[in-house]
Amino acid sequence: MDNVQMFGTKITAIKEYLYNFARTHSPTRLMGSENTYSLSKEHCNLKYSDILPQNAEGFPATREFLMKVVDILIDYIKNQSDRSSKVLDFHHPGDMMRLLDLEIPDTGVSLQQLLVDCSTTLKYQVKTGHPHFFNQLSCGLDLVSMAGEWLTATANTNMFTYEIAPVFILMEHVVLHKMREIIGWPNGVGDSILAPGGSISNLYAFLAARHKMFPQYKERGLSAVGGQLVMFTSDQCHYSVKSCASVCGLGTDNCVMVPSDERGRMIPQRLEELIIERKAKGHIPFFVNATAGTTVIGAFDPIAEIADICKKYNCWLHVDAAWGGGLLLSRKYRHPRLTGIERADSVTWNPHKLMGALLQCSTIHFKDDGLLISCNQMSAEYLFMTDKLYDVKYDTGDKVIQCGRHNDIFKLWLQWRAKGNDGFEEHMNRLMELTEYMVQRIKQMSDKFYLILEPELVNCCFWYLPTRLRNMPHTAEREKLLGEICPILKGRMMEAGTLMVGYQPDDRRPNFFRNIISSAAVTEADIDFLLAEMDRLGHDL
Ligand SMILES: *Cc1c(COP(=O)(O)O)cnc(C)c1O
Repeated sequence: MDNVQMFGTKITAIKEYLYNFARTHSPTRLMGSENTYSLSKEHCNLKYSDILPQNAEGFPATREFLMKVVDILIDYIKNQSDRSSKVLDFHHPGDMMRLLDLEIPDTGVSLQQLLVDCSTTLKYQVKTGHPHFFNQLSCGLDLVSMAGEWLTATANTNMFTYEIAPVFILMEHVVLHKMREIIGWPNGVGDSILAPGGSISNLYAFLAARHKMFPQYKERGLSAVGGQLVMFTSDQCHYSVKSCASVCGLGTDNCVMVPSDERGRMIPQRLEELIIERKAKGHIPFFVNATAGTTVIGAFDPIAEIADICKKYNCWLHVDAAWGGGLLLSRKYRHPRLTGIERADSVTWNPHKLMGALLQCSTIHFKDDGLLISCNQMSAEYLFMTDKLYDVKYDTGDKVIQCGRHNDIFKLWLQWRAKGNDGFEEHMNRLMELTEYMVQRIKQMSDKFYLILEPELVNCCFWYLPTRLRNMPHTAEREKLLGEICPILKGRMMEAGTLMVGYQPDDRRPNFFRNIISSAAVTEADIDFLLAEMDRLGHDL
């Protein structure tokens, strides 16, 4: 044996000793360490090709590998539910690159290394289900919905035909029908589809509206319109509405932004004036978007009044309830916010927001059955044959502009089964009550916090007042200074890792904080923590 060989043998012996020591002596598994989530000795050197599906005999190793993956996931859930744990472990992109090994190798790594990779990935992921994460419209981790997502991943099917996804297709029918009933269309008439996000749902509404007014557009394109189409939405709408105008050939100049009042609600009189103005120019107003729950301040446009105007000028009424749609499930909060929604021609409603279904889960509903298929059908003969064994109306794939579609229904169906209508109603009421609690606390601490407006939804918009600005009169000058505080305080939150609350400016004011309560994990004590933590991190700014 030469020296190098001997050295190698010794290293192997030491490694083995350490490996066994770690296995027998470590009571808790340390995230990210090399001995975390160790496979048993007989499997620790295996690779992907030693388990299913490549190795038909590999079931014991397959099982052990997957159980370890599940251990990692469950420990992550346990960790993120622990209020003393951090929401995030922030690093700048360059540093994060150095902390991680993201290279794709020529020769694949071992199963053991994959477990380390999984655990390291979650270690640096922002914990969006942590009770102190208030940053986004989708917060929280509904575990039943997550279990559904696990099943969905395992079934790994495409949603285009009944042929390959019979159970899931029927679930879509049942759940979407129920949602149309809740919207208020008689007997749940109409048609719906799940889309990859609210932005695409809004696009579907646009396409159907144009198809309804100009059925020849599909074949003849722009020449079928013979004029300038114009759409209308409030200046508070989600930017995806405007993007319809750019994607679909109108140009953003022809997406007219209707002014909103001081509460962020579209002013119907201004809508009517702007429609008249465009008609006078010879343009063709055809589409009005009313937002039910605006993204930043959570305002609800007055749907009934907007519906009257749409009727008068023969415009399609779309309600973008991507954010606020969840309140349809609450008898207490539905009215007056969503009153009149049943008069809409189409409705976007994202269960992945207020309802807490896992990302992503977005639905678009049409009052008129048959429009979706006639608008989008291309009749690809290799997929949508009409001479199949079963009733091909269950092949929903030709209603959409995608080909393949992810299964977004199972997680929602399972979650709704668990909660029932009552559970969802309680969840909505609870989120609204927590928001009311937050508003009350902010008012009680008016020396430290400035409430910008009374929320209609779970968006709570406010400024934090550091000590030096507390006795200053509230003028435009103070608003400017408070706006400058926001990014610095947010930076401190992220560096401390204890809290995440979003901020942004709007047309009326500089930066302000927008807190979102849409996680079932949040309690009154968490709201108290949030306010105290902002004060701790920001009082000296
Ligand atoms: C979030 C949101 C959207 C977009 O939904 P995605 O699923 O993120 O594409 C559209 N409209 C409103 C009002 C929203 O809040």
